[in-house]
This record gives sequence, structure tokens and C-alpha cells, in this order.
Amino acid sequence: MNDCLFCKIAAGEIPSNKVYEDADVLAFRDINPQAPVHILVIPKAHAADSAAQITAGNSAVVARCFEAIAKVAEAEGLKDGFRVITNSGAAAGQTVPHLHFHILAGCDMSDRLV
Ligand code: 5GP
Ligand code: ZN
Repeated sequence: MNDCLFCKIAAGEIPSNKVYEDADVLAFRDINPQAPVHILVIPKAHAADSAAQITAGNSAVVARCFEAIAKVAEAEGLKDGFRVITNSGAAAGQTVPHLHFHILAGCDMSDRLV
């Protein structure tokens, strides 16, 4: 999609610190980490702006992302646990309207959900 930040990162037009890539999915470190480990997982294609646009027609990209999340967690050694977040809409804090999942880890989050 034109003028989409994460489409440009997926295309390599904007550099990123990649941690995983396959034909459908890219994972890279968040530029403003909110935890010691903060990785973004995106479908390379602009399949949806957010979780609010997931349908039977495009939900396969969600499965691809979660397959990548498991691989990233293994590769990053996140044995103690990790959290996956997706923000949908302004009130949730979404700032980039290209479906993405945050992997957060490296600190104890067990006492709070948000
Ligand atoms: P959202 O707020 O939409 O759920 O998440 C967007 C995330 O993208 C934020 O955590 C923000 O720090 C990250 N971000 C914004 N611009 C860039 C960038 O140019 N590169 C990287 N690696 N992350 C970015
Ligand atoms: Zn996009």
C-alpha cells in the first residue's frame, strides 16, 4: 500500500533490524522498545490495517504470523515466556495501520496485563 511505513519496511525501502523473514512474514526490532525484547511481526503484504479487518478471506496471514512468532521466540531464547499484543484502532494505541503483532519479553509482566 502506498505510503504505509510497514509496507516500506517489508519492501526494504526503509531499513529495519530484522530477526526473522520468510516468504510471507517479516519480524524486526521495534525502534522504541517497551521491554528488553520488543519485536514486531508483520505480514509482508498489506493484508489488513488491523485485527478489525480479519476475515475468512485473509485470516491465513494471522496463522503465518503466529508460526513466525513461535520461531522468533525459540530463536530469541524466550524460554521464560513472552507476550503478544496487537493494537487495533486509535484508542488501543495503534499508530501504524498495517496489521502487526508485538512480541514483548525479557522482563516480568506476570503482575499486570497492561
Ligand atoms: P502500534 O502503536 O501501531 O501498535 O505499533 C507500532 C510500533 O511501530 C510502535 O511500537 C513503534 O515504536 C514502531 N515503529 C514506528 N516506526 C518504526 C520504524 O520506523 N521502525 C521500527 N523498527 N519500528 C517502528
Ligand atoms: Zn502496509
